[in-house]
Amino acid sequence: MNELLLLVESKEGLPDKTTLELIRGGSDLAKELGIDTSAVVVGHETPSLAESVASYGLKKIYRLEHPMLSGFQPDAWVGALEWLCRQIGPRIFLASHSFVGKEVAPRLACRLKTELTTDCIGLKIDPQDGLLIRTKPIYGGNAIAALKCAGLPQMVTVRKNIFEPMEPVDTRSELVDLVPDLDESIIKVRSLKIVPEEVVELDKAHVVISGGRGVVEKEDFDMLKALAAALNKSSGNVTMVGCSRPVVDKCWLSSDHQVGLTGSIIAPDIYVAVGISGAIQHLVGMIRSKKIIAINTDPGCNMFKVADYGVVEDYKVLIPALVKKLEE
Ligand SMILES: Cc1cc2nc3c(=O)[nH]c(=O)nc-3n(C[C@H](O)[C@H](O)[C@H](O)COP(=O)(O)OP(=O)(O)OC[C@H]3O[C@@H](n4cnc5c(N)ncnc54)[C@H](O)[C@@H]3O)c2cc1C
Repeated sequence: MNELLLLVESKEGLPDKTTLELIRGGSDLAKELGIDTSAVVVGHETPSLAESVASYGLKKIYRLEHPMLSGFQPDAWVGALEWLCRQIGPRIFLASHSFVGKEVAPRLACRLKTELTTDCIGLKIDPQDGLLIRTKPIYGGNAIAALKCAGLPQMVTVRKNIFEPMEPVDTRSELVDLVPDLDESIIKVRSLKIVPEEVVELDKAHVVISGGRGVVEKEDFDMLKALAAALNKSSGNVTMVGCSRPVVDKCWLSSDHQVGLTGSIIAPDIYVAVGISGAIQHLVGMIRSKKIIAINTDPGCNMFKVADYGVVEDYKVLIPALVKKLEE
């Protein structure tokens, strides 16, 4: 029970950003408890993934290798992770609140007869008993709950962008190759085909230009897109268009554009809020932006209270002028 174990997820053969965030958050928790941080890589013939995770300062990387673990087969992954947890008995098990984490963690918790808290936005150690204090939004985001569970391992899934991603370090982790004991009979559901989805990953953008209810016509989002394109061209920064919830409710943009408590939590270099009043549920999603620029016709709006720069102006006047200037 002297280990914090985290589940590695990958993108194009490398650990994905949520994994690097888990490594940072997990390592801090483990340090506080005086225990080791390790990671588990699940797959078949994926040696390079474990090799690259080994440069992020973890004590050990468990490489669970089996033909049944090829691709993402949830039943096989749960079986393999249960097998590993029974071998090593981790004190804490962390997974991202991702498609994979949401699929695997609840079933694993059930098999290990422990409690799981999903979608955590904060984790800390209770100094009294060493248990994890897990915070998560409840009642559709109207309140934040702080929870503590006695079961072992202490299991959670963590929302993305809660921790800073870990940087590589000079030391290498120990690689432990293991072949889990798996039988074909455990596979109840098979993934036949992975269909990649077109998603807007706002957290990858340096600049996010978001439109709110103040943007009155759907077509006016073309102005925001033109501004994003002009900024991309002139500065080379990745600029994407985001929005507040009413825009998604009107089906003008898909939910992966939504910034906020029930959307994405982001921390770009620059956040431009166009016609967004600054409701708390929106602020939660963008308040970590390094510079905030607000464009709003109401000088008393809440967004101006958190903005570094504010322009009291109709976006219909300001945005085309900005685009023109950038294009010059
Ligand atoms: C449980 C729960 C979860 C939620 N989650 C989210 C979330 O994740 N993200 C989110 O965004 N919201 C969320 N909301 C909704 C949130 O409470 C607000 O209703 C929403 O953020 C308001 O969006 P807005 O600022 O675009 O609209 P409004 O509050 O209506 O503000 C529109 C602004 O546009 C300005 N404006 C009008 N015309 C112009 C113009 N021509 N030029 C410039 N400015 C103009 C106005 O002055 C005003 O400030 C949630 C609510 C609940 C209850």
